[in-house]
Amino acid sequence: MQEPATKIVVLGTGGTIAGLQTAGPPGTYRAGALPLAQLLPEGADLERVDVAHIDSKDMDLAVWRQLTVQVAQALGRDEVAGVVITHGSDTLEDTAWLLHSLFASSGKPVVLTCAMRPADHPAPDGPGNWRDALAVARDGGAGHRGVLVVCAGQVHGARGVRKQHGWAVDAFGSGQAGALGAVNNGQVHWFREPIRPAVDSGLNEASAVGESLWRTLLSPPWPEQLRTQVHQALLRRDWPWVAVVHSAALADARSLRALVDAGVQGLVVAGTGSGTVHRDWLPVLASLPESVPWVLCSACEMAGMPLTEQAGWSALDLTPRKARISLALMQLALG
Ligand code: ASP
Repeated sequence: MQEPATKIVVLGTGGTIAGLQTAGPPGTYRAGALPLAQLLPEGADLERVDVAHIDSKDMDLAVWRQLTVQVAQALGRDEVAGVVITHGSDTLEDTAWLLHSLFASSGKPVVLTCAMRPADHPAPDGPGNWRDALAVARDGGAGHRGVLVVCAGQVHGARGVRKQHGWAVDAFGSGQAGALGAVNNGQVHWFREPIRPAVDSGLNEASAVGESLWRTLLSPPWPEQLRTQVHQALLRRDWPWVAVVHSAALADARSLRALVDAGVQGLVVAGTGSGTVHRDWLPVLASLPESVPWVLCSACEMAGMPLTEQAGWSALDLTPRKARISLALMQLALG
């Protein structure tokens, strides 16, 4: 009989959770200064791997590649019950959405956590956060909920999570839908299931192109063939250049044209309200070449509902940042 999986693989990427206020001259701060060995006590069921030591504001393709390889390897091991990733808070939601896109189908928990105060702060929040993250990674209700983010006692899904505060310990929210759960004294309480927009029938094909493929990509877990194809492309190819442009008062069409002339490979239009776009932009968007797909989402913090503007492909409830990642992944899928 097979032994039950008990091991948690902890992958460190840096961030304030591993940061020191006192690393350099007074007043300086260095994110990711400490290795995991100095943050987490050794335990028989914990395996610690330092993937990177960066400030997540500087997240790059090399670290994303290493991280996805480490996550894939860990999830593939029978003895591994789940993965915890320590990460800076600045781009945590980007990495969570990338990993959710690639690994939502694994059935094993992948939990990201962070801290808003450095490890040498008089009252650090990191230790509580990684303990909570370990509790979630060991909880039976986590695996089917896709990639999760744990911070300040709350459990957020990769789809809804966003950093909404610059310094508060409770820095993350899940928009209108609220957190998926909470952790209290090591106990995990689940409030709801993650939202997964329906993929139209017939669209769930790895061979789907254009808007069909876009809709499939917006709704992880993906078909296995698509998942492998995109992961391989991520490891081998340059990251496609997708830009976010904000429609607002006096939106200037020259910014769109300049991006297209410079070779942009996709545009995310962060629309006003429920996804409306300045009239001066609409003709430019309508005449974009096929090689520059554009998608529409709302810049509003509490959007999270179907968009009204139908001119482009809708990014549904995704924030502009996450739509940007999905559109880049689409370009990777198209090869
Ligand atoms: N700049 C830091 C980072 O994202 C902030 C943090 O971790 O809270 O790495």
